[in-house]
Amino acid sequence: MWGVIKMVKNKMLYDIIIIGGGPAGIISAVTARKYYPKRKILLIKNIEKGVIPCGIPYMFTTLKKPEDNKLGNTPLKENNIKLRIDEVIEINKQKRKVITKNKDEFKYKKLILAMGSQPIVLPIEGINKKGVYTIYKEMNYLKKLKNKIKKSKNIVIVGGGFIGVEFADELSKLKNVNVSIIELLPKVLFNSFDKEFSELATQELIKKEVKIYTNLKIEKINGKEKVVSVSLSDGKTISADMVILGIGAKPNISLAKNAGLKISKGGISVNKYLRTSDKNIFAVGDCSEKTDFFTREKISVMLASTATTEARIAGCNLFEKFARKNMGTIASYSTKIKDLTLGSTGMTEKTAVERGFKIIVGNAESFDKHPKNMPNTSKIKVKLIFSRPGIILGGQVAGGESAGEVINIISTAIQKKFSLSELEDLQIATHPKLTSAPTNYPIINAAQNALQKLK
Ligand SMILES: Cc1cc2nc3c(=O)[nH]c(=O)nc-3n(C[C@H](O)[C@H](O)[C@H](O)COP(=O)(O)OP(=O)(O)OC[C@H]3O[C@@H](n4cnc5c(N)ncnc54)[C@H](O)[C@@H]3O)c2cc1C
Repeated sequence: MWGVIKMVKNKMLYDIIIIGGGPAGIISAVTARKYYPKRKILLIKNIEKGVIPCGIPYMFTTLKKPEDNKLGNTPLKENNIKLRIDEVIEINKQKRKVITKNKDEFKYKKLILAMGSQPIVLPIEGINKKGVYTIYKEMNYLKKLKNKIKKSKNIVIVGGGFIGVEFADELSKLKNVNVSIIELLPKVLFNSFDKEFSELATQELIKKEVKIYTNLKIEKINGKEKVVSVSLSDGKTISADMVILGIGAKPNISLAKNAGLKISKGGISVNKYLRTSDKNIFAVGDCSEKTDFFTREKISVMLASTATTEARIAGCNLFEKFARKNMGTIASYSTKIKDLTLGSTGMTEKTAVERGFKIIVGNAESFDKHPKNMPNTSKIKVKLIFSRPGIILGGQVAGGESAGEVINIISTAIQKKFSLSELEDLQIATHPKLTSAPTNYPIINAAQNALQKLK
């Protein structure tokens, strides 16, 4: 009898439990396996059929079928990580156990919270009408959304951040569909880019016949049961048979809050090792608060790239005495609208000035192959922002597909706090078919442009 009870209890005891099966949860589990090969690891997630979140906008036309954007369980299987499809409804931090909806209990030595975020729903009149959608990261929901999109003629996207812009780019490929974006700020992508880069995005969307309404709020969704139009803050009404909300997300914190963990405005509070207020519990990804790399202020950033960086740090730190520090986020991000690739990392000129930095800006434009008559050559534009003594704070890139990796060179330079002259002396590989010319490399030229202004 005792033997049986003990056996059942042992079965439910894990060294490491991870709650959440998004990018942060999966990478936490896989990293924990690398650092702790002999530990028993369990991942609990409440969505059986997940999707790759960053691929969601492309499930509607670019990918052949929604299932092509499935988030599979292969990394868990390959790394001997047990998986439960269930929802954790309680964390008992004194007894170090989690309780699930199916009434199972699992004890842990270390727990990682990777519960992610939920889309924000605007509290406006008509929000519950048929035809109004938010973006949930769930396969069946998105398959239904795809079917509804096919039957729509006038789609209004609320929010001109990266989700709204990527949806607009994708949906404007559909025949006989009018797509509009409503944005509260003066330009689309205005939180991550300075105005000249936002303007490039605007022009690209206009070429695709997307209508853009900026400096405007959506005030009301009209229609009897189903949406027929939306009213804007300037009194305009736009026809709509579908409204997609892409106005941001809020962290999933209720489980942590009910467990008595410290919560801040941006999510579950964590220290530089990504530990919560309980030493055996870590939090990563969209559900946890974010610290700015430069100022150490708490900021709101929800990116899969940030989530997975944190997951790699927490996954390593679980049982480590000399733990790795999270240096804070620089919010590196890239996107593509039609043929235009845009990348942003660190501070924009606008945010640097707002935060009181004295700055120098360097700009450069060249081509991403050489000579410029090489096939598939695109123009590339780089902007670098430096603090007054000349340390890099941020960068933005616009161009063809190569811009997607050029921004990552700038991200690396920011993390290593490169100076103007270190960027000028950058050692790079160049090739006519692959890169800009060594004599005309845009990052180096932008650094030289800033250096001249400093002198
Ligand atoms: C349309 C769209 C496009 C995006 N594009 C990009 C991009 O190009 N680049 C980029 O960097 N970022 C992008 N993002 C942001 C990115 O998706 C998020 O930052 C990322 O998903 C965060 O990962 P996460 O694991 O922290 O959270 P999530 O992906 O939200 O995953 C959390 C998981 O935990 C589960 N869960 C929550 N509570 C429980 C519980 N109690 N029990 C069990 N399971 C639970 C949830 O159901 C969910 O599956 C995009 C987001 C969207 C919506």
